[in-house]
Amino acid sequence: MFERILDRLKTATFWRLVWFSVILSELLTAIIVLPMSILFRDGIAADYLITGSVAAFFVSLIVVFILVLLIKELRKDEKLLSEQNQRIYDLSIRDYLTDVFNCRYFYERLEEEMKRAERYQSSFSLIMLDIDYFKRYNDVHGHQAGDRVLRDIALFLKKNIREQDVIARYGGEEFSVILPETGKQVARGLAERLRMSLPSQSFTPNGAQSDGNLTISLGIATYPEDAESIEDLVKVADHALYRAKGNGRNRVMIAGE
Ligand code: GH3
Ligand code: MG
Ligand code: MG
Repeated sequence: MFERILDRLKTATFWRLVWFSVILSELLTAIIVLPMSILFRDGIAADYLITGSVAAFFVSLIVVFILVLLIKELRKDEKLLSEQNQRIYDLSIRDYLTDVFNCRYFYERLEEEMKRAERYQSSFSLIMLDIDYFKRYNDVHGHQAGDRVLRDIALFLKKNIREQDVIARYGGEEFSVILPETGKQVARGLAERLRMSLPSQSFTPNGAQSDGNLTISLGIATYPEDAESIEDLVKVADHALYRAKGNGRNRVMIAGE
């Protein structure tokens, strides 16, 4: 009950609170004054009653002033709490190194996309993307340089996908991109564009001009054309990526082709 009143008050504006306080104090004064004026009808008591009602009015004003301060504090706490919750949620769905979405969120979104595709009888595509010979890069330039590359590639992908696309770090040096409402041919165009524009980025450690040209291999699968479940879709896209590796890397392979 008290919490419900507090909730109501929290959403009230300042002027509503002032009016509320005036009415409350008038009511309190009336409640005190009325029975007393019936009990004491002589002139001496009347002075006390006037003083009492004025005091009651000021007391209720002070109470409401405290209430306003309290509500302001509560609102501030609530805002802080919701900001903190948002921050915790953001941390829970993002990869700590690259700041793209993590694998857990990737599966959540896949689930959503599948439901949407079913509802609207549409399709969506999935790109699985893996950096070629990344172990060698790490061995030559060190793990920290490798980490920088992962961050740079994530940034590159973010800049080069459409607003509605979802990019996640699937694991290690493997990324996945969900392309909502996208058929195979558009997905192929996008994947080719990513592959071709990547080598122009220079992944040279310590700013040196050297063998920084990394390549990527990509596999594409489309729902519901290539798979009936999320697990199968990932498996099929992964298989296409595996074929891209087997065929010499630095290429895009499409499921079913
Ligand atoms: P392939 O072309 O077949 O994909 O060869 P690859 O060397 O890229 O693949 P492999 O699976 O043999 O090695 C993956 C490497 O990715 C090994 C590991 O050191 C590196 N790697 C995975 N996660 C991270 C990471 O978070 N940071 C860094 N720096 N390297 C990572
Ligand atoms: Mg690799
Ligand atoms: Mg790999």
